Order: sequence, then C-alpha cells, then structure tokens
Amino acid sequence: MDIEQFRKAGYQAIDRICDYYYSLENRPVISKVEPGYLKDHLAQSIPEKGEDFQIIADDYQRFIVPGLTHWQHPSFFAYFPTACTFEGILADLYATSACNPGFNWSSSPACTELEASVMDWAAQLLGLSPVFLNGSGTGGGSLQSTASDSALIAVVAARSLYQRDHHNTKMEDLVIYTTTQTHSLGLKAGLILGLSVRALEVTAEDEFALRGVTLQKALDDDEKQGKKPFILIATVGTTSSGAIDNIPEIQQVVKKQPSLWVHIDAAWAGAALSCPENRERCYLKEINEFANSFCTNFHKWGLVNFDASTLWVRNRRHLTDALDVTPPFLRTTHGDAGTVIDYRNWHLALGRRFRSLKMWFVFRSFGAEGFRSYIRRTIQLNKKFAEYVSLSDKLILVTSPSLALTVFRLSPKSISPAQPALDEQSLNNLNRLFYGRISARDDIMLTQTVLNGVYCIRLAVGAARTNESHIKQACDLLHKEAELAIEAWEQSIIEESQ
Ligand SMILES: *Cc1c(COP(=O)(O)O)cnc(C)c1O
Repeated sequence: MDIEQFRKAGYQAIDRICDYYYSLENRPVISKVEPGYLKDHLAQSIPEKGEDFQIIADDYQRFIVPGLTHWQHPSFFAYFPTACTFEGILADLYATSACNPGFNWSSSPACTELEASVMDWAAQLLGLSPVFLNGSGTGGGSLQSTASDSALIAVVAARSLYQRDHHNTKMEDLVIYTTTQTHSLGLKAGLILGLSVRALEVTAEDEFALRGVTLQKALDDDEKQGKKPFILIATVGTTSSGAIDNIPEIQQVVKKQPSLWVHIDAAWAGAALSCPENRERCYLKEINEFANSFCTNFHKWGLVNFDASTLWVRNRRHLTDALDVTPPFLRTTHGDAGTVIDYRNWHLALGRRFRSLKMWFVFRSFGAEGFRSYIRRTIQLNKKFAEYVSLSDKLILVTSPSLALTVFRLSPKSISPAQPALDEQSLNNLNRLFYGRISARDDIMLTQTVLNGVYCIRLAVGAARTNESHIKQACDLLHKEAELAIEAWEQSIIEESQ
C-alpha cells in the first residue's frame, strides 16, 4: 500500500467506523456465533500473493464484526465498561503512525515527556498527593498496559525493597496478602513470581471490605509461623461488588508494620476520585498519607481507550532499584546523568506503546469538567437502576450500590402462597435459572458473580451512550425474565412433587 492508497483506505475506514457507531444501538449486544465460526471464513495459511486491500477491508465487515461483542453498546452492563472515545481512537492512530518504542528518553523525547506530564495531570485530576507526581522528583507515575501488570510491578518492587531491608529472607517465606475479593491479579503475581498468596477473609456484614482486625490477625499468625508478608494488595472497588477495603483501619495496622508495602488496586473505581464527593468514601486522604503505590485503569471508566493503566509510586527509586538493567547499548548521556526518566526501568518490557497521547487528547478535549460530568452521569444512572431494584417485589440489592455498580438477585417475597420461603441453595438455583434466561438474550449483557456463596448478578454502568431509557429498558426486561424464571421454577417444583 502506498501513501495515496493509504489516504483512500483511511478515509473509508473512518467512514465505516462512523457507520458502525450510528448503527450500534440496533445491533445485538452479544455476538451469537458458535465457537470455531471464523475458521471456515479464513484461508488455511497466508496467501502466497498479496491481496487487494478493499477485499481485506470488506472481509473485516463480513467476518469479524459478526463475531464482536459490542462493549460500547448502550445496553452493555457486563464486567466493567471499557472506555472508548473518538479522541482516543484518533490518538491511537497518530501513535501507531509514529510507531515508537519509547523505552528511554532519547528514543523519543516527546513520548517520555508527554507521559510524565499527563501522568501528573491524571494524578491531579484524581486528587492524588503531590508526592506521587513526576514533578516531585521522588514519586512518579507511568502508563502500564493493565492493572495486572501494575500489580505485578508493585509486587516486584516491594519484594526487592523487602529483601534489601531484610537480608537472608528466604523466597519461600515471602507472602503476598490479598483478600478473597481481590482480582485474580494477586494470584497471578504469585504464580508468576513463585510466591505464596494469602487471601484474607472478608464478610457480607462488612460489605466484603477488608478490616484492620483481620489484617492484624493474619500478620500475628504469620509472624509466629516465620512467614514474611511483604505486600498487601488492597482494593478500592472490587470487581465482584465494588467493595472498598477499610483503608483507614489498614493504615493503623501498617503504622506498626512499616515493611508491609500497600498497593491500592482501584482499577475500576479510581476514575470516581475525579469528583470530590467520592473521595471520602474511597479513602483518598488515607491513600495519600501512606499507600506505596496506586493503580487505576483509565481504559475502564476513564474515557481513554484500552490500554491505559496508570501506576503511581510514592518512591520511584523502589521501581528502578528493582527493574533497572542497563547494558552498554542502552546507556545514554542523559540517562547516566539522571536528568531524564527512562521509562524502560518502570515496567516489565523494554519497549512501550505511546499511550500518553490518548490521555492527552481525551483530557484536553473533555476537560476536567467534562470528565467529572461523565462520571457523575454514570453514577446517577446506576442510582436510578438501584432505585428500581429497591422498589421491586422480585429483585433485591445484595450489597449497597457502589458508585456505578449494582449487585442484585432475584428474591421473590414468596414463590407461591403454599410454599415456605426458599432456602439459600434453592435461591441460588433460582438465580442461576434467572441469569441463564438473561444471558440467553442478545439485547443486553450482564455478568454473574458469587459473593461468599451467594449467587448474584452485577450491573455496571459506563458505556458512553447509555442513558436513562436504557436503564429503564434493562429494568423492564429483568422483571419480565424474573417472572418467567419464577414460573419455570414453580413448574419444576410441581413436576418434582408428582
Ligand atoms: C478489571 C480489574 C482488574 C484487572 O484489569 P486488567 O487491567 O485487565 O489487568 C484488576 N482489579 C480490579 C478491581 C478490576 O476491576
């Protein structure tokens, strides 16, 4: 493809992307293709002779689009949203056109310097303490691909710091602390690094948040066993229910345990800190006072296209001490002088994508005000949904709504007047049946979860095009499916008793 052919194909691509967005709402949310569907449409191997690009572009529409689940669909309420803005799309296009691995300052000064600046913008937007800013010279922030990478890096830095301060610590004694609600990134970090992971218990009464007493007890136990817990991955906004660990209590415990690194995983909820009214409930003040590292994914609820996971550390030396490997061919005058950031020492790989460009485009185009109003709108929509659930005679909230996430389940007042109230196992089965009905539909998407044995359903708001009518539609549809699930359940009870 030459430059003029690219120009033409590029115009067409943008036209088609616009058409896609115009048609989005009329598409099914969920792709209904069967596993292996694509194989029949693809050649067995790379074509020997290059093909005309128009055919390739058309095949994208014919074969790929039908196999897509539309995360930007206004009725997509599953998992957590994945941000997508036109500013982000355009930035990705420019970034890939410069195609720059940006591993150190000299490899492209603009990539490093823009990242250092937009990370400071982002920290200020969220209200993080100035110690986390790149401008502080002590702490600093960098863009990672995912929260899992960010957590892994925090664990590596924490381990290296712990081992430096505690010589002769055996690897097998080191322990990563998580809770039973921590994202799988805790277990993954343990698997990758060959370290034990201890998941601390959390309870429904505490809305699945880690308490200080639980942490203290685990520390006491482990001390007796000769174990060396060196990092706690605490969560602000867990994936299952949006639980927020009790950071103030954790802070009190950690005061007596200064060698325990605290990493805050706010992959989803972090974006809410942009609005001052959410800061207290997310314990921003305490995070600012003592957390060693903090991560949020702007690519979830923060309007920046995948991938844009932001990781801040209180002390950048802890990253570079753990990750700096500088062979002669990577040495540079500025790097040696320490006058520039070499981001290759702040993450796992050498090369890195030019992600800061999309942060810059999005932040400037929305402004802090536009960003906050999007966050507030989605929280408001979730509040609407939670209100519908509270008023329902069939659905109940399982936990208090958390920001833009609601966890609920089917809990009919009574199945039929003749039946006694359902026991927990029957309720779980009824809810499985209910969720099975919802997930068989293609016009809405939600996810299931299990909270300490309780089967429930999550609804997360965040797609940019979701408005009140989609929330209303979701409620109507859930009530209809609830009725049908109860009918089917009653039928099965009658059949069983015959
Ligand atoms: C989504 C999520 C993650 C993991 O996200 P990746 O960036 O895909 O690794 C981690 N923690 C929480 C709380 C999440 O919601």
